[in-house]
Amino acid sequence: MDLVVRVPHSPRPGETVLGADFETFAGGKGANQAVAAARLGGEVTMVGRVGSDNFGDALIQGLIEDNIKTTYVIKDSETPTGIAMIAVAANGENMIVVASGANYEVSEVDVTNARDIMRDTDLLLLQLECPMEAVTAAIDLAKAYNIPVVLNPAPAQPLSKALLANVDVLTPNETELMMLAGVDNVDQAIEKVLSWGTKNLVVTLGANGARVVTDGVDRHIPAHEITAVDTTAAGDAFNGALAVAYAEGKPLLEAVAYGMAAGALAATRRGAQPSLPTRDAVENLIKSSHI
Ligand code: ADP
Repeated sequence: MDLVVRVPHSPRPGETVLGADFETFAGGKGANQAVAAARLGGEVTMVGRVGSDNFGDALIQGLIEDNIKTTYVIKDSETPTGIAMIAVAANGENMIVVASGANYEVSEVDVTNARDIMRDTDLLLLQLECPMEAVTAAIDLAKAYNIPVVLNPAPAQPLSKALLANVDVLTPNETELMMLAGVDNVDQAIEKVLSWGTKNLVVTLGANGARVVTDGVDRHIPAHEITAVDTTAAGDAFNGALAVAYAEGKPLLEAVAYGMAAGALAATRRGAQPSLPTRDAVENLIKSSHI
């Protein structure tokens, strides 16, 4: 759950700043990506954890309202729901403190318990706001069932070559890509990550679009020209939409086009989940653009 307060300026250490308009918004990369996929018409099952508290109840309710199956979202009786405290200053600067809470209690067993749904699914989409053991278990299971895996490696962290070799589409932004590769140059980072066995690499570049690097293809696709209001969840919109299109069997570049349109539309609206677009909006933008 995102807890957001607008403040006149970011507080300095020891300073109390009086803010206004306290608001709560459903958030979290996994949930945002699940909602993005569901709004694009995907049939989505979420695996994860919330706490046994009001935030947890509200988050599960929100997922249900977006037609997401929550059978495998566990209510942890000991750990509270993960939260982000966000202070948004008048100049647009954000200060964010995250307490991961129940997100980091997601276990290998939670994932294994979801194997029946996994066996019947078209695609596994993951991010890294939960423990690496759970991520690895999910990818191993997907491979055992021959299911394509899309991994958004955010928040950035090092990943094993064995794990990367099992990922079909890796979708970092530039910062995440360079952190993952351990170099501060995008081209070198791309080369390194591909040499580790990544099959399809899609680097998202915000207002500069995306770069798709796969076997024999290295293509920069410019972004849609939009007026960005709030880019929160643009990356999550991108991943959810790409996952749905790819699961439907569309070629990677076409799936990226879905992702880019969804990301652009999300950037035109405030908030995370409220800004995630419908399939009609995404397809209209694709039709009306030169991309
Ligand atoms: P993240 O939030 O993970 O850093 P990005 O900011 O790269 O992700 O956004 C994901 C995608 O959304 C981009 O590849 C781009 O296609 C689209 N997008 C994001 N911001 C904008 C923008 N200001 N204008 C147009 N498209 C955008």
